This record gives sequence, C-alpha cells and structure tokens, in this order.
Amino acid sequence: MGRIHVLPDQVANKIAAGEVVERPASVVKELLENSLDAGAGDIRVEAEGGGRRLIRVTDDGCGMLRDDALLALERHATSKISRVEELECIATLGFRGEALPSIASVSRMVIETRAAEEPVGARVEVAGGRLLSVSECVRPPGTSITVRDLFFNVPARRKFLRTEQTELAHIASLVTHYSLAHPAKSFELVHEGRTLLSAAPVATAAERVFQVFGAETLEELVELEPRTAAEGRFTLSGFISRPQVQKTNRNSIFLFVNRRLIRDRLLLHAISAAYANLMPPSAFPFALLFLDCDPGEVDVNVHPSKTEVRFRAASFVHDFVRDALRETLVASRPAPAAPLPSLPVPGVSQPAARLPYSEFTQALEDFRLAGIPPDTPRSVLPELTLAPPPEPQPRLDLQPADPPTPPGPAPAAAAPPTPACPAAEPAAAPPGPEASRLRLPDTHASIPEGLALDPPSSMAALEQVRILGQLHDSFIIAAGPDGLWIIDQHVAHERILFEKFLDRLSRGRAEQQRLLLPLILTLTPAQEADYQRIAGELSRAGFETEPFGHRTIAVKAAPADLPPQNIEQAVFEILEIADAELRRFTVEEFRAALAASLACRAAIKINTRLEPEKMEWLVRELARTRYPMSCPHGRPVALRYSNRDILRSFHRI
Ligand code: ADP
Ligand code: MG
Repeated sequence: MGRIHVLPDQVANKIAAGEVVERPASVVKELLENSLDAGAGDIRVEAEGGGRRLIRVTDDGCGMLRDDALLALERHATSKISRVEELECIATLGFRGEALPSIASVSRMVIETRAAEEPVGARVEVAGGRLLSVSECVRPPGTSITVRDLFFNVPARRKFLRTEQTELAHIASLVTHYSLAHPAKSFELVHEGRTLLSAAPVATAAERVFQVFGAETLEELVELEPRTAAEGRFTLSGFISRPQVQKTNRNSIFLFVNRRLIRDRLLLHAISAAYANLMPPSAFPFALLFLDCDPGEVDVNVHPSKTEVRFRAASFVHDFVRDALRETLVASRPAPAAPLPSLPVPGVSQPAARLPYSEFTQALEDFRLAGIPPDTPRSVLPELTLAPPPEPQPRLDLQPADPPTPPGPAPAAAAPPTPACPAAEPAAAPPGPEASRLRLPDTHASIPEGLALDPPSSMAALEQVRILGQLHDSFIIAAGPDGLWIIDQHVAHERILFEKFLDRLSRGRAEQQRLLLPLILTLTPAQEADYQRIAGELSRAGFETEPFGHRTIAVKAAPADLPPQNIEQAVFEILEIADAELRRFTVEEFRAALAASLACRAAIKINTRLEPEKMEWLVRELARTRYPMSCPHGRPVALRYSNRDILRSFHRI
C-alpha cells in the first residue's frame, strides 16, 4: 500500500504556494529536507558546475515504493499530511508535495529509490516534467535523486543564476546549516570530486560545530544550557558568541525552529536585545540557536520557501529567547583573549572538513536574498530590518502624539544609541592558531611549575588578580592565576558606574550632590521640549532641575559620582539622547542610555595616574559587577594573555 497521495483541493489551496526552485541551492534544500523527513542518517550531496550541471542527493532513508516514486511527481502529492487541520501542526520539513514536481519540470531528473521492504528498487526518469522511463534498479534501501541541467528549458531563469562559486557557496551554506542542526547524522558535500564538508555523526552539537567551523570558532562561543519554558512546549539550545566577537551584519546568526533554518525578525530582535549594552548597537554576534517547540506553536505555512514562520505566542517567544541569551552571557562572564601573533605550529593540522568561514557568511548573505532575482540592485532590496519588537514594556510616554515612524531602515539593534565614548577603539582579535588542539611536543615538555595550562577563560579570575602596576597612566596590569591581565581603567570604571547608575535609576533611589551655586543652562526650543518630556527621568537619575525663566533651567543638584565640571555636558548629552530616539525607547532602554552617558562622563579618564589603592579598588569593584567584560558601548574592559599563549609565544610549548 503506497504512502503518498494527492492532496484534496481544499487542502492544496490552503498552502502558501509559490515557486520553490529559484536556484541550485533551493533544489538542494528541498532534496535535503526530503531526506531528513525520510529519516535518513546518512546524507550525501554531490554537485557539479555550482549545481547547474548536476545535483545529486543520496540518502539511506525509508525510500519509496515504485508507484509512490511516480506519484511523488504529481503536484500536491505528499505522504506527510492529508487533512487541513494537519497544516496547523506540521512536524515534517516538507508538507506541500510541490518540490519534486517543480524541480522535475525545470530539469532532467532521475529518481532511484528502494523501500526497505522491496527486493528491488525503482528508477524513474523525467525531463522537463515529461516522464521518460520507469525501470527497476539494484540499490540499497534509500533514495538518490539526480537533477541535471537545471533550467535547461527555462533560459530566462538560467540567465539569472550567478557565478558557479556563488551558487556553490549557497549550497555549501545550506548543507552546513542542516548538518549543524542534526549532529547525529552524517553529511557529506562533494563538488566535482572535491570534498567540501564531511561530517561524521557525533554525539553533541559542540562536536558538530568543531567539525564544521573548527576550534577557533568554538572557542569564541558559549554554549547555552538547554532550557525549556511553558511546560516544556519550548526548548532552546545552541551557541552564542562572546560579546567581543563582533560581526558587521546579521549573517552569522543561524536560527532553527524545529530544526528548520529560518529567518525571523522576532528572534533577531530578541538576540539584539540580549546583547544590548554589551556590544555596540551597530555590531552583531554569531549565534546558532535551536528553538524546538510543539508544532502547534508555530505556523510554517507562511512563505513558499518555508524560511519564515509565525509564532502563536510571539512576545513570549521573544522574551524567552532574550532572557535565555542574556543569562547565558552574564553567567559565562567570558574574558577576551589578547590577540597573539600567529605562530606556525608544527604538527597541528586543520580539521578535515572545514569550509572557509567567509564562504559561509557570503552564502548566508545570499541566503537572505534568496528569492530575489540575483540581478536586483542591492539598494532596492528590502533590508532585513527589525520590526518594532513586541512590546514587552510600556513605552515612555514622552510625546503627545506619536508621529508615524518614517519607513526605512529601523535601528540596527534594540540598544539605545549611547553616545560614543572618547577612547580608542579596540583592535579586533585576529583568529589565533588553534589553541585547543595543541599538544606538547615531547622535546619541550618543561612547563614552568605552577602554570595552569587550561585556565578558566572567565572573568571570575579577576577576583584573584594581583596588581602589578599601571601602563601609560591608562591601563592596569595585573597577574592572575590564568595569565596576565591588562585592564582599561576608563572602561572598567565606566562598567562599574553604568551598573550603579542603572540600578539607582530603576529603583528610583539616586544619590545626589548639591551644587553650591545652581548651574544655569540655556536651551534651544527643541531642547526645552525634550527637557519637558524627560524632567521626571532626570530627577530619578539624581538631577534636581527647575525652569528658570525663558528657555533656561537651573540645575541645583546632580548625581553623586558625576564630577561637577561634567554636569553641563552630561545634561546636554541626555537631552540629545532624548531628542534623537526617545519615541522608540522603552523606559528600560532610555534608562540604559542615560546610565551609559552618565557613566562615561563620570568614569576615570585614561591618562590619569592612579594610586595602587585606587587600582585595587577599581579591579575589586569591577569583579563585582554583573557583566565585567565590556563597557556599555561594547568595548572590552580587559585583555588577558593566557598562560598558554605566553608559553606558546616563548616557544615553550
Ligand atoms: P513534500 O516533501 O512536501 O511531501 P515533495 O515533492 O518534496 O513534497 O516530495 C513528495 C513526496 O515524495 C514526499 O511526501 C515523500 O513521501 C516522497 N519523497 C521525496 N523524497 C524522498 C526521499 N528522499 N525519501 C523518501 N521519500 C521521499
Ligand atoms: Mg519536500
């Protein structure tokens, strides 16, 4: 008895229809998803000519009976759903029964398949949608689908394909992503005889990340403790980068919902919100997140290529993801490693199956644009901007009537536009050699006593450091059990003050200093309007101000810790924050921006000599902060040369 049937019209009509075959990678995606749905444990993808000339996906899944293999080529023929209600809770990657007929209509396709219960397999040959032959074949159980000469009969489509490399990068990106989502399965990608990816089954997601991206990437990541919510209806797991890993776009964010790769604004927003004040608003992390939920919680029948989803409990999902990430970041308190010169390390080989990282990010970018004719100029493409978040908090009601937000790029992240801080930007750490894979050569096995070789890469060690001195009146040098620390005194103090100000603001318990003479400030009309709106927040922060005649205010008291000579600057800066973006802020975001501004104005500057006691105090206070790794603008607070790095630089290991 066959498994596949043609969906009745009333089901077929409810399906988000559309072209699924845009380019070679979309063929690979559909075939891969079919293999996964067929329960395959071993999936091999072969391609030639960037997938234009040949794509073949071979699996060891359940296979198809001969008649099913024929039926599968009919539109809306599927074994995965049969009733309308089932569209509400789809547990498979496919469900439309559209992929095989669509691909078959624009290529020369051969299906070779054998169900385990059959003694022989079936071979079905189609070209441009026309059945050419059906025969028996000898093969192990499973399915192999070969797609040759994609778009041979649709020259217009063929013209839109990009270079072989680009199309190949799309394919590599897809196979990689699916391999990340299924570590227990084996994936192989071969292009014209060259193996691009070969990932044997592994027990954990971390091992798969290592197989695919290598040790460096794995070291930059923190693994999420898998956590569940809503009585087990949602589970989140995956990896996120430490805040010092800063990408210029969202292309390193991989989101899977029920192991399906998707793009989702809600989840992107939740990620940005988790990193707010840990990273500059213009930067993005690397994230590999797996959200698994009851199929009924998510609608995948939204978009023909199934890359978009809709959550039933959108704002719950947003907050669940944001909080999980935030807590992971706070708990890990990872310390950034100092950049090291790359030394050639004998005897250390690259992991076998490793694609250059840049290929992925490019491919991901392309993935984002998938579905859009390749020649479309970028400038006219809809940017993947963030929709305003579901509103978890009341908006600051500071404007009588909210003028409609003009269309256009939304702010890059939820983080408030904290003013840039006058200090040098940190240099991004170039990827170092593969530290975690180092083994000691026998001849150099003399490690100095007392050196921990695998230090906790965590700011926890800060509590135990011994201060050695100050460099250039700007950086505190300290020795810790795990290596040498260099701490930026301004940034460290800024982080301490930021948390202090934020805490006072949220509790409404500011500490004040009264001024001997009120400070009289003259405002522009716009500033005066802003002042009216945020006077309450100013006083919460510890300012005591009152109107003082025409467009003038008197500041009678200011937050403790803010040096009197910086008060004027701070007030104007806060007004500017209010002016620029206030309408979009939640109260919490506005307060974060305000606290960041005050912290920057109040923090010890660089080029300031510090007494040893002051340095001690600063480092102890820093260790007590919730998040000692970066300033509210996202700059790192400290660099650490690990014992291992020091030994390696001296060629002792
Ligand atoms: P859908 O995946 O939406 O059901 P497709 O056109 O992709 O539609 O596939 C049609 C049917 O063919 C599937 O429902 C499945 O029963 C069968 N099929 C396709 N690929 C495979 C495969 N690799 N192994 C087993 N069955 C397959
Ligand atoms: Mg399918």
